[in-house]
Amino acid sequence: MTQLKEKVKQLSGTIAQEVVDFRRHLHAHPELSFHEYQTSAFVESTLKAKGIEVEQVKEDIAQTGLVAYVKGKNPESKVVALRADMDALPIKEQNDIPYKSQNEGVMHACGHDVHTSSLLGTASILNELRGEFEGTVKLIFQPGEELIPGGASLMIKAGILERQKPKSLFGQHVAPQIPVGKIGFRSGIYMASADEIYLTVKGKGGHAAMPDNIIDPVLIASHIIVALQQVVSRNANPKVPTVLSFGKVIAEGATNVIPNEVHVAGTFRTLNEEWRAEAKKRIKKLAEGIAESMGGTCEVKILDGYPYLENNPLLTERAMGYAQEYMGKENVIDLDIWMASEDFAYYTHHVDSCFYRLGVRNEEKGIISGVHTPTFNVDEKSLEIGSGLMAWLALKELENK
Ligand SMILES: [Zn+2]
Ligand SMILES: [Zn+2]
Repeated sequence: MTQLKEKVKQLSGTIAQEVVDFRRHLHAHPELSFHEYQTSAFVESTLKAKGIEVEQVKEDIAQTGLVAYVKGKNPESKVVALRADMDALPIKEQNDIPYKSQNEGVMHACGHDVHTSSLLGTASILNELRGEFEGTVKLIFQPGEELIPGGASLMIKAGILERQKPKSLFGQHVAPQIPVGKIGFRSGIYMASADEIYLTVKGKGGHAAMPDNIIDPVLIASHIIVALQQVVSRNANPKVPTVLSFGKVIAEGATNVIPNEVHVAGTFRTLNEEWRAEAKKRIKKLAEGIAESMGGTCEVKILDGYPYLENNPLLTERAMGYAQEYMGKENVIDLDIWMASEDFAYYTHHVDSCFYRLGVRNEEKGIISGVHTPTFNVDEKSLEIGSGLMAWLALKELENK
């Protein structure tokens, strides 16, 4: 086994430059969610050039999704799956780098270029080692992580977890807060569900000097925003983290004009599916009730986002052990709960899964920007680590009964 580990490390070193080149190509040519046509074609041609079997997911469902297989000995015996997301964000890149985005206003600011190129590297490594393992490694390249309903949910609907059902699934995400060379895990619930809340508060506008002739939707909306916080502070179980934030309030009146309506938008996040459903009912009832009591109306539209993400505890424990073996104990760290959301969560509700974080930070090189910012970047040493570690996790997990 030590020998196999050395082989994985050696192969990840040999292909490191190629993986960096993949990443730079993808970084320079980012595509928005569900429009990853060139990215998908690049992934497909790269895999095929290596002789890896590629299956196209039905176009009308997941659009650009791909599933590929690296088959070892006795390929039907066991399947382990690895996932990468391929989409970029509507952000104008501000990095001054030779591989800067050539698609104005679109940027790989969440590191999905790293995930995709790293998984191509992992595929290469496993393909070289296919005489040395039993079973099949299923590679999932999915579209649209950044946009509801999430590429993961569409890939699942397309049946990718049914054909050659995996016993375990791994996904990685860049972590700009973790130094390059380190990997972070959290067992159990790790990330939040996220639903989008849209309120349209209607009243009757008019001159601000004549409040007795109007129904003020600005005041109604203000009462609703304040009152809704009691769903968090009075209804939520204090042991279940819950966040309700409104970041958008549009009342297009003036100092002396009360508008007819006000638009409010926000996000609701938590870590429990029953409470999530209950809270959304309460939000709707409270908002409608307050508006009505003040003479107006409130239309509540809730766009369901991703569920909470739960890392299977047994799989995560094994994965941490494998990672410690590969990287050294000191380089494997424990993570806190993160109230962001991620569509990998859908997979975790269907198959034993583990979503871990790849350190990409390098303060000496000034690589410190967060994801979803115009200056986000990674230390590219993370690509060699990411591709090798994922291959190692798959190999070890295939060995596990
Ligand atoms: Zn993102
Ligand atoms: Zn992401």
